[in-house]
Amino acid sequence: MRSRSQYLREMGLTPWSVTAGTRVLASQHVEPGSSDVGSPGKASLSDWTSLQRQVSNCMKCSLHTTRKTTVFGKGDPKADWLLVGEAPGAEEDRQGLPFVGRAGQLLNRMLFSMDLSRNEVFVANVLKCRPPDNRDPFGEEVSMCESFLHQQIKFIQPKIILAMGRFAAQALLRVDQTIGQLRGRVHRYPAYNTPLVVTYHPAYLLRSPQAKGKTWEDLVLALAEFRQVTHSENI
Ligand code: SF4
Repeated sequence: MRSRSQYLREMGLTPWSVTAGTRVLASQHVEPGSSDVGSPGKASLSDWTSLQRQVSNCMKCSLHTTRKTTVFGKGDPKADWLLVGEAPGAEEDRQGLPFVGRAGQLLNRMLFSMDLSRNEVFVANVLKCRPPDNRDPFGEEVSMCESFLHQQIKFIQPKIILAMGRFAAQALLRVDQTIGQLRGRVHRYPAYNTPLVVTYHPAYLLRSPQAKGKTWEDLVLALAEFRQVTHSENI
């Protein structure tokens, strides 16, 4: 098995450790939010199964006419880490699974560099159906679909959220800032005050490998915040 450092080098990244400086950065920006999806309840497995069924039968927006299958998301439904992307691509649409193409392989390497695996996280998209020709999602499609993601977050109750790409960040934070404006600090998912870190989408990194260094900075920031959260819980 390749080492963590080898994976980082393969991604064009320079391994470095989580530092005290990163924690200072992580604590710079905390946004108290409003609650729009209700308090975290004692959701049951049947709630999760019901949500999966709702997604697979959904016809709320026109994307249901062009999809092959819905992509609910995959991983541990009680994971500490929730990773959120934009929408399924062609291969995801065929298989009904998130991040299965080249971007998915890069995501796996990103997780490996964080000592995580796909089984230890939950991976989902804002949109559960593929926009034709991989076009950007329309606002109305996001509006129609995002309640599914919010219900997933309510069920999973992750300790930290990694928003990958502009659409995921804007949908989760309800802002219209660019990814460059949103990176580099810890936000809060409004409904549950969950720490949220913004980074680039793996598909973007395939097109723009020079952004991998910044992505690693984001992952280090997220790891530092996660360790802070778990440390606080154990005091
Ligand atoms: S994208 Fe979302 S809202 Fe639109 S049909 Fe698919 S599941 Fe329903």
